[in-house]
Amino acid sequence: MIEFKPALTENYTIGDRPTDVSIHYIVIHATELSYPDTIARFQNPNHVSAHVVIRQHDGHRTAMVAPKDVAWHAGNWDMNCRSLGIEQEAYVADATSFTEPMMGALASQILEWSAQYAIPLDRAHLLGHDNVAAPTKKVRTQMHRDPGWSFDWERLFQKLGVVPAPDLPVNIGQGVRIVTHYADLFQYPALESSVIGRLADALTYRASYGQEFVCVAEHGAWLAIDFNGQRAWLRQSQVSGIRRPILKVSRRMAIYGSTQSGAPATGFLQPDEQYVITDELAGLQTSDVAGHLTAHATHDVFKQIWYGHRLAYVKANEE
Ligand SMILES: [Zn+2]
Repeated sequence: MIEFKPALTENYTIGDRPTDVSIHYIVIHATELSYPDTIARFQNPNHVSAHVVIRQHDGHRTAMVAPKDVAWHAGNWDMNCRSLGIEQEAYVADATSFTEPMMGALASQILEWSAQYAIPLDRAHLLGHDNVAAPTKKVRTQMHRDPGWSFDWERLFQKLGVVPAPDLPVNIGQGVRIVTHYADLFQYPALESSVIGRLADALTYRASYGQEFVCVAEHGAWLAIDFNGQRAWLRQSQVSGIRRPILKVSRRMAIYGSTQSGAPATGFLQPDEQYVITDELAGLQTSDVAGHLTAHATHDVFKQIWYGHRLAYVKANEE
């Protein structure tokens, strides 16, 4: 049973989805707060909300914002407009807080929305808050890191009944998908090599289950991918080959963390880098006018990639 405890109207934008904007993603969170504190937070003026909150001990679901409305949960307005947000009463640093009943309720909620709004059951559309792109360079360090490394994506996909795609051979110039809980990424094809990012921040050197990249080199039991613009080595046993469209960068091109018209570039891809194209979508121009959503599609076409741990968009006409 789903209980309804409406969030404060000032904490979300009233919309008419999927009529005005189609719902394309589900973003999964961990509250870092108790269940009652989370409900209270969304019912008081905090400029934050989510569509559904799931309770840890029994998987009880509380709907707080209707799917037609835009909850403020992703730290990225464009993503909020295109997504539904689910809060789990859980803590990034505590794997045991992602309980069995809560995982079951999470899977049920995802399956309901996926059927209702035609949201694909894959990692390009089921995102962690930690996979959401920063909309501008300035807010990059403020982007959230939940549900984090304790959250088991493989277990979620099992609960969703998603059968992994057949294991194809890994070939240079073709896609690979991470099939382990996560894969650490090294500077050289050797375990004694350093990781590519900052040791203190696993988001800078770790790919997670279901993310897709391009094999750009091989060496023995290792392969290399492009990750955050760096060449990164991981073991072949951690990936499966896939056949997907690929973005082969021929000249420096901008990446974006938002599909809104006029959104600033947040970085650049360099010639010879390669990324798997996980989706293609029309740009948006949306705003909140006195609490109500106004929306227009734009003529921009964006391709979605995994740039690193977070997704990114490129403009099709800038290729
Ligand atoms: Zn979050």
